[in-house]
Formats: sequence, structure tokens, C-alpha cells
Amino acid sequence: MRKIALEEHFTTPELAKNYVARPTQSDALFADVERRLADFDELRLEMMDKTGIEMMVLSVTTPGVQGVSDSREAIRLARSANDFLAREVQKRPDRYAGFAHLAMQDAEVAATELERSVRELGFRGALINGQTNGHYLDEDQYVPFWERVQELDVPIYLHPGKMADHPAMFAHRPELGGPIWGWTAETAAHALRLVFGGTLTRFPKVRVILGHMGETLPFLLWRLDSRREFDLGEKLAPDARPSAIIRRSIAITTSGVCDPVALAAAIQALGEDNVMFSVDYPYEDPQIAADFIESAPIGEKVRAKVCHGNAERLLRL
Ligand code: MN
Repeated sequence: MRKIALEEHFTTPELAKNYVARPTQSDALFADVERRLADFDELRLEMMDKTGIEMMVLSVTTPGVQGVSDSREAIRLARSANDFLAREVQKRPDRYAGFAHLAMQDAEVAATELERSVRELGFRGALINGQTNGHYLDEDQYVPFWERVQELDVPIYLHPGKMADHPAMFAHRPELGGPIWGWTAETAAHALRLVFGGTLTRFPKVRVILGHMGETLPFLLWRLDSRREFDLGEKLAPDARPSAIIRRSIAITTSGVCDPVALAAAIQALGEDNVMFSVDYPYEDPQIAADFIESAPIGEKVRAKVCHGNAERLLRL
């Protein structure tokens, strides 16, 4: 079945040296990742052809400019990365689309760059690599950003970035602070800030995308409702429950979780219109991801939605 994949990463020559996270201890694996991040030709296209991935929506790998300490430099590098990606997409508009890369150090500038990326460069939304200098997207400073997102009617992919600090629970266990667990905890908490902090209620048309099968949230919906009502000591209106806000405002991808049990649960929890195929290239193996989605025990109508239909609708591809 033809597939669209939307958590697929690249880097630019400017960002490659200092702003690519290293989620492996293996030099050989990381060298291969670096080679693939910089490639838009044979390596990527041959792999796409081999695995039936018709289109990739490309994004700058984590942390990108969100890891740049000088915000003026971050703004410059973000603009430059978007122009760089637009040139690559233009060469193969049938195979590549883009998510904007934004310097979230400055919400107003990020909103303006998102608008330029969507209206002038034809990008499909933006991918944000987690917190920025300890700041999260439910903060008041980001209200103008979300206003622009809603106005432009494009999704925001909330992708893991590194944690702002190192909690004691990860002390002496550095492997738990990365993609094995810490990135999931960080990204799920960030998404829950948007749910509980009111952002997704104030901007009901905004759509947020989470990778990694929803960063565990599909598994927790019942508990989020139950404990929130216990916390408040009152029943919530059905559409004010955390689960309702998540089902309405959040869609997820299968990136990096090639598990048919988790897929079935996610589809049941969020609905068949809210789950989309992705790989997380080049950190994950596209062949494993493709084999997983082709063979998962779901109906063909649902498989078509997950493989391409939902992404086509949400990203207007
Ligand atoms: Mn990723």
C-alpha cells in the first residue's frame, strides 16, 4: 500500500555540526545517521522506493535551532533551514513535502516564519522539538503563535527534544534520560500542558501531532479523566474531559513503535482518523516500519487511512 511518512528528518550543513542530538552510544550507528540526515538523493529515495513510501514530510532533526543559545542566531538559522528545505522539496515535489523549522525562542518571530513557510514556501505545518530553554508552548508568551497556527489551519508536530533539566529519577541512569524513556515522558508532559493548561480549549481548531504512537497518551485516557475529576472534586462536561480534548485536538503517528498491539490500542483509543504511519528516518528502519504497517491485523479501509488517507486530509497533501 502506498504510504506517506511524516516524522522524517534531515539536517542542513549549517546545523549538522552542533545541533544534532546523538541518541546512540555507537559511533558506527551515529555515522550512518549523519550520512542519511544530509542526503536527499540515492540513500533516501532508494529506501522510499523499496518500502513503498510515496512521500516524506521532512523536518529538521532535534534539537535544531531550539538548541541555539543566541536567539538572533536561532532565528537566522531557522530561516536559512526553511529556505534550504524548500529548495530540496522543489526538486522533487512528488516525493517530498516540508514542515517549517522555527526558533521558538521568540514566539512572534516564530509565528511570522510559520506564515512565510506555509504561504510562500508551501510547507504543511511545523515540527517543534520540545521545550525551548525551559519554556513550554502553553505559556502566555505563545498565545500569538497559536493564534497564527489556528488562522493558517496547519498542524504542529510536537517532537521530542532534550529535557530542560535532569531530574533525580534519572540520576546515574543516563540511558533513561534519552529516547528510551525520558523523551517520551518529556513530550507527553508537554502535550498534557497544552491539554490541562487550556491551549487546546482556547484554540479548538488547532491540531497537534504526536509521534511514537502518541507518547503513551492513548493508553492513559481513562485515567486522565478519572483523576482529573477526583482532583477537582466534580464531574466534567463530556467535551471538557481530557480524553475528549485529546481525541479532538491530537493526532498521532506510528513513528518508532512497530508494535501491532500498541497500534490496535491507539486506533481504538483515538479513532481510525487520528493515527498516521511514520518511520522516524533515519533513526528507525523503514523496512521494519513498512512490514509492520502492511501486516498489522487491521481492516484494509483503516490501513489506507493510516498509511496515507489521514495525512492527506490533515496536511492537505
Ligand atoms: Mn523523530
